[in-house]
Amino acid sequence: MSQDNLMEKIVSLCKRRGFIFQSSEIYGGLGSVWDYGPLGVELKRNVKDAWWKAMVHGRDDMVGLDAGILMHPKTWKASGHTENFSDILVDCKTCKKRFRKDHVGDTCPECGAKDFTEGRAFNLMMKTYLGAVEDENSLSYLRPETAQGIFVNFANVVDTMHKRLPFGVAQIGKSFRNEITPGNFVFRTREFEQMEIEYFTQPEDADKMYEEWIAERYRWYLDLGIKKETLRLRPHAQDELAHYAKGCTDIEYLFPFGWSELEGIANRTDYDLKQHAKHSGKNLQYKDPVSGQEFYPFIIEPSGGVDRATLAFLTDAYCEEQVNDATRVVLKFSKHLAPIKVAVLPLLKKNAELVTMARRLKGDLSKIFTTVYDDTASIGKLYRRQDEVGTFFCVTVDVDSLTDHQVTVRHRDTMKQDRISIEHVKEYLGQQFSTNNS
Ligand SMILES: [Zn+2]
Repeated sequence: MSQDNLMEKIVSLCKRRGFIFQSSEIYGGLGSVWDYGPLGVELKRNVKDAWWKAMVHGRDDMVGLDAGILMHPKTWKASGHTENFSDILVDCKTCKKRFRKDHVGDTCPECGAKDFTEGRAFNLMMKTYLGAVEDENSLSYLRPETAQGIFVNFANVVDTMHKRLPFGVAQIGKSFRNEITPGNFVFRTREFEQMEIEYFTQPEDADKMYEEWIAERYRWYLDLGIKKETLRLRPHAQDELAHYAKGCTDIEYLFPFGWSELEGIANRTDYDLKQHAKHSGKNLQYKDPVSGQEFYPFIIEPSGGVDRATLAFLTDAYCEEQVNDATRVVLKFSKHLAPIKVAVLPLLKKNAELVTMARRLKGDLSKIFTTVYDDTASIGKLYRRQDEVGTFFCVTVDVDSLTDHQVTVRHRDTMKQDRISIEHVKEYLGQQFSTNNS
């Protein structure tokens, strides 16, 4: 299976099975914006829930936050985005196409000419205007990262939650960047979702915390089923670092289009709080409750992309297997990420008694597992459909079920079938989920 081909197969499966659609498709589509369909929204939500559960609820030193997408414009002056968050663009003088300077050599990839304009800075923040008047005073931006919402709330969190160093604030939310060359499906888009942590620590502990967070975040992807050979750490070279950063390491995944960044973990030093203190005139130092000493904490930032993680989990789960001369496509999601846990399938949709039994079972299982009911095709087709979306178990109700009160439970990965008494199905499935470690 060639890697190019794999990407096409995943994009096609995503559309065919309701994971990801092109935005505004009926109008010809909107470039590099994607809509998550009925199964995509479940998958993406499971990714975010797994992150929140492990990073916030699973730790004593973390709290959550949900800041606004719109922020005071001074935020972006303080963060340096107004001045520095830009790409250098050049225009081809022959075909008039525009490119990122660092993406073209001396030859135009479109027409082959070698005559470009001088480079010009193009800010990637998306502009908008607040209120009824569109002028410089109402100019604002859609946030290009969620991190700043955490920095500006640092004092609020310390004052209200009585947190002592070290502690972190986690946030999941949308960000916007007017990328010139987005691409690779949901990997690089102009509207995207981030999962970010800002971890505040004593300056002398920052190096240790940085290493701990790299290990913790690397483990998170493995725990959710990503194969070890498709995941690697890439420490940034000195000349790649932002001027204030002391270190940065990317977690990269081997996508069909090559190794690419899923998440970056950075030691941002005390730069962010100092910048916001300077621009706001507020004292954003941390006061140690024991020693009374005041200082700026260092910040370790694990910053990941929800859409990138979702695409990595989709890619890693994709399997093709030969079963009796036919190819079986299966998404082997971990139990935490599978959008549907159980599908209840009646063998005869015209048998009212059987349908009633299957519907009742579906209702009962839904209280515990994400469960669907489907009777719109033959059983062979229904199995294939559920395999393709990664459903963990199919429970089939057949004519015999009416007399022996048993149903057939089919396991996704092994296709093994067990006959289980209908009163014990819920318990049986619960056991299977708790003993399955992936
Ligand atoms: Zn050209």
